Amino acid sequence: MEQEYIIETRNIFKQYKSKFAVNNVSIHVRRGDIYGLIGKNGAGKTTLMKLILGLTAPSKGDVYLFGGTNSDEARAKIGSLIEAPGIYNGCTAYENLLRFSILYGADKSGIDDLLKLVGLDNTGNKKVGAFSLGMKQRLGIAIALLSDPEALVLDEPINGLDPAGIKEIRDIILNLNRERGVTIIISSHLLDELAKVVTCYGIINNGELTQEITAKELEEQCRHSAKIVANNPVAAAELLKSKFDGIQLSENGDGVTLYSHLDRTAEINACLVNAGVAVSEITVSTNGLEEFFIERLGR
Ligand code: ATP
Repeated sequence: MEQEYIIETRNIFKQYKSKFAVNNVSIHVRRGDIYGLIGKNGAGKTTLMKLILGLTAPSKGDVYLFGGTNSDEARAKIGSLIEAPGIYNGCTAYENLLRFSILYGADKSGIDDLLKLVGLDNTGNKKVGAFSLGMKQRLGIAIALLSDPEALVLDEPINGLDPAGIKEIRDIILNLNRERGVTIIISSHLLDELAKVVTCYGIINNGELTQEITAKELEEQCRHSAKIVANNPVAAAELLKSKFDGIQLSENGDGVTLYSHLDRTAEINACLVNAGVAVSEITVSTNGLEEFFIERLGR
């Protein structure tokens, strides 16, 4: 049976002296996901990726890959681009891929296709030392793909790139995922950019996973909403459900949040007040995504 998660950490910790760079983190990556690890600088994203790739050992906890433990065989199915790719500046893109293919025991016949895939097929005799940062990142991705991996771990691949460079990387990621079915874990501190590709978010703050949420769940949660602060949330929710057909709302400690009927807040207010519910505030929110992350990423 196909395992639900192909990359998983279970209560993993990484301690450096007295500091926990990764603190009790359990992430769950499904086959076909583009999993975005989002967190500020120093939040622990790189360390978590290194733990997944077996580049550093956990202080506690385990990594599970493809339904088994973290074996060499399983790790061989994962390509990675962590920090600056160790490329040879004095060589061309093709020569770099040739060298790494020998190192990895990969088939060199796929090199031309890989160059094409990452948009470096027309760089000819140009030495990599003269490449832009974006071109070097794309070469790094091609190197990571030499072993034809099932999953790819990319640490901040768009960091420092201009908008055109970011778009090129984004297109490669989407193409790999959609056309080749490659599962991808990507880290970034740029929410807007991650939001364009990811299917699931792992939010990291100070070494801890503050939330794991699919893009779909997030979209639902951040739908435009109206927060009604009222003295009796249970009665308010019941009343609104009975009076407004198909109303979508959730109840919380200090009132209810509406996800529908947002154009009828005056009527809703009157209905609550007439029934004896004291309404102290109604705020319509239109910027849920950003607020959601600000709360969870830490200040
Ligand atoms: P960035 O985007 O800045 O790389 P990050 O989210 O990837 O941030 P990490 O690089 O994983 O964060 O670092 C998390 C914390 O662990 C930081 O406080 C960092 O200083 C610390 N850290 C990472 N590696 C080591 C190490 N080898 N020795 C000591 N502390 C480390």
